[in-house]
Amino acid sequence: MNHEDCIDALHDHHFGELDRARDEQVRSHLAECGDCALEYCRLRADLDRLDALATARPGPAVRVALRAKVESEFTPSAWSRLVAFCTLRVPIYQPVAVLALVVAVVALAWPTDAPSSARTDHPTVVDQFDGSDVRIVDHRVL
Ligand SMILES: [Zn+2]
Repeated sequence: MNHEDCIDALHDHHFGELDRARDEQVRSHLAECGDCALEYCRLRADLDRLDALATARPGPAVRVALRAKVESEFTPSAWSRLVAFCTLRVPIYQPVAVLALVVAVVALAWPTDAPSSARTDHPTVVDQFDGSDVRIVDHRVL
C-alpha cells in the first residue's frame, strides 16, 4: 500500500467501513509510515472536535434568551388569535362564534329599561317601620 491509497482509506478505516484485508493493509502501513500515522492522528483529532460540536449544548443563559426570542416571534397576539378563531374553517364554529359575538355586543350596547338610580344628597332612611301594619297598596291581586 502506498501513501495515497492509505490517505484515501483513513476515513473508512476510522469508521470501520473497510473489509478485513484492506483494513489490515492500512494498519500495517500506519505502523510503518510516520507521515500517514501523523495524518491519521490529525484526522482523528478533527473528527473528535466535530463530535464535540455535535454534542455541545447551549448554556442556560442562551436557552433563556432563545426561548424569549422564540416566544416573542411566534406567539400570536390576542387579536390575531381572535381573528384566527373567527375565521376557523370549521363549519359550525364560525357561525356560532359570530352569532355569539353579535349577541354579546347587542347585549352590552342595548339600553336597559331599569330605572337608573341617581345619586342624591338625601340618603334613604327607614324610620319607625312597623311590619305588622302593612298597608295594601294594590287591591287587584286580592
Ligand atoms: Zn504513508
